[in-house]
Amino acid sequence: QAKKAGRNTHIVHQADMASDNHDRLDIEQALRHAIARDELELFYQPIIALRGDRLIGAEALLRWRHPEYGLLGPDRFMDVAEQSGLIVEIGEWVLGQACREAVRWQTEGLEGLGVSVNLSAVQLRRNNLETVVADALASTGLGAAMLELELTESMLLEKSDQFLQLLRSLKQMGVKLAIDDFGTGYSNLSYLQRFQVDRLKIDKSFVSQIGSNEQNRAIVTAVIQMAHSLKLEVTAEGIEHQLVQRILTSLGCDHAQGYLFSRPVEADRFLEFAKAHSSIA
Ligand code: C2E
Ligand code: MG
Ligand code: MG
Ligand code: MG
Repeated sequence: QAKKAGRNTHIVHQADMASDNHDRLDIEQALRHAIARDELELFYQPIIALRGDRLIGAEALLRWRHPEYGLLGPDRFMDVAEQSGLIVEIGEWVLGQACREAVRWQTEGLEGLGVSVNLSAVQLRRNNLETVVADALASTGLGAAMLELELTESMLLEKSDQFLQLLRSLKQMGVKLAIDDFGTGYSNLSYLQRFQVDRLKIDKSFVSQIGSNEQNRAIVTAVIQMAHSLKLEVTAEGIEHQLVQRILTSLGCDHAQGYLFSRPVEADRFLEFAKAHSSIA
């Protein structure tokens, strides 16, 4: 009996894997054409300065309008994009598109709004990222200081000379660097200074609970203090409740991002949001 059940489980498992593989190939095939077919799109999520409740920019977040499956978030295709290497071409498109959009904000009279772009470890391993960033800035005319690149802690474990040189060149260009999902990875704090990082983004897993979880509140408090003593700014991610916003403000957190202010929205909707927000200020 047990043996029979075991075998059945095994069969189910194989069928699952086969369909997973099929999905992957399917997604990979379709993703290959997504740029050319104009199916990729950037959504923008507002970033707010807690002091003065002021809009300071947005994070660009990738979406895929799949012809059959509809609007897909990165959780549905980022693994495939990275493992297939397609993220290199996609990432180039993202950088260009985000810079173009940020220039549009400025021509619409919204000066001083910056754009943050997520990078993949796969992009960092190529040795042309410096050129890709420089080209995106030059071809769109965006000032380097208006572009922030988001890395994760694990990327800073890469200690090759080439990587150090890359970060140095990006900083020399005037581009800002942020550490995304801070607190979830291996944080060797000495790297933060060594790499001349400008900002930490505290992961939402700590932030969302600070109203009720004392341990998380202690972590967030410590990160903000540590960051400020290293002259780094802090953005808190995943703010969904006003109580959380109030606590973060009282802790001196600089910037905030979360559904409380806005979900990531289409480019045109972000522009409306930004105009409405700036007319209030
Ligand atoms: P991330 O960079 O940490 O982006 C923040 C994620 O948290 C976004 O998910 C955003 O929609 C979500 N979020 C923001 N506020 C809240 C909130 O209040 N509550 C909750 N529950 N979630 C919130 P999204 O858009 O699904 O992106 C997921 C991840 O995919 C990103 O995490 C980033 O690591 C990656 N990603 C997105 N766009 C790109 C891209 O262009 N290139 C690369 N390499 N990665 C990207
Ligand atoms: Mg990010
Ligand atoms: Mg991330
Ligand atoms: Mg994050």
